[in-house]
Amino acid sequence: MFPSNFYSPVENLDFPLFQQKGLTVHVKRDDMIHPFISGNKWRKLKYVLQAARDGNKNHLITFGGAWSNHLLATACAGAKFGFKTTAFVRGETVSNANLSLSKVFGMELIFTDRTTYKDKLALYNRYFEQDTQAYFIDEGGHGVDGARGCGEIFDELEQVYDHVFCACGTGTTLAGLHMGKTRKGLNTLLHGIPVLAGGDFIQQAVTELYPEAASHDIILHTDYHFGGYAKTTPELTDFINGFCAKTGILIEPVYTGKLFYGVFDLTSKDYFQRGENILIIHTGGLTGILGMHAQFENKK
Ligand SMILES: *Cc1c(COP(=O)(O)O)cnc(C)c1O
Repeated sequence: MFPSNFYSPVENLDFPLFQQKGLTVHVKRDDMIHPFISGNKWRKLKYVLQAARDGNKNHLITFGGAWSNHLLATACAGAKFGFKTTAFVRGETVSNANLSLSKVFGMELIFTDRTTYKDKLALYNRYFEQDTQAYFIDEGGHGVDGARGCGEIFDELEQVYDHVFCACGTGTTLAGLHMGKTRKGLNTLLHGIPVLAGGDFIQQAVTELYPEAASHDIILHTDYHFGGYAKTTPELTDFINGFCAKTGILIEPVYTGKLFYGVFDLTSKDYFQRGENILIIHTGGLTGILGMHAQFENKK
């Protein structure tokens, strides 16, 4: 189903700070895989949709907040590969660019109050127990099938890196990176930047998806959440503006802004050794910035 010849180049990040510290820093441009099935969502959905197809299910049911990149990715992938899609959206009825795009791709939305939303399986059963075509996809594409797809990043790399960084929401991408690096027998250190406060839970989330994961192989930097999920500060938006204006690479405040900020901050604090090389996974999700454009414009 998912073609394997998509475009995700590796680019050098040429900043004086990295030169000063003797580091080579590259970005894996998974944001370029697809505009709407973006980044890690493409990788996560690959084996999830394959499993749905293998089970002869043609109706994808999933969950997310109103700005969820996963909802839009599932809507678009469903359209592309011939599935009907329905999503439970957390919270009161709203309209925004992300949900409008999801509807354009044919997704049906069911707004669900926050308490009811918590028990996803109960919701699924209440609406779709009788639907023999329905296939449950967890929020954010969380799960072992999702992780497996993310592990394939390592198959595409032409060199070995000392450090690989990604942003973490559920930890599925990080678990997948661990699978990939282990399969390749690499000593690369994996780093996660949790975008939620209290990000230590990611360690356990990774172990649940990949029990063979050696915990010392993963380093979580839990101080770059800027107040919590989807929270931002003027310092973060300034950083994002500066980075985008210098590189032509778009990052956003929910995930990748925090990720790149973290790598720059660790670099300036001499966290890395001279001569090391670092790969940052750009996990995409750029429509998120549409919900925050006012904060960026006000700065000018
Ligand atoms: C969904 C998302 C993540 C979170 O990935 P997990 O596998 O849930 O940790 C990271 N970055 C972007 C851009 C995302 O859209």
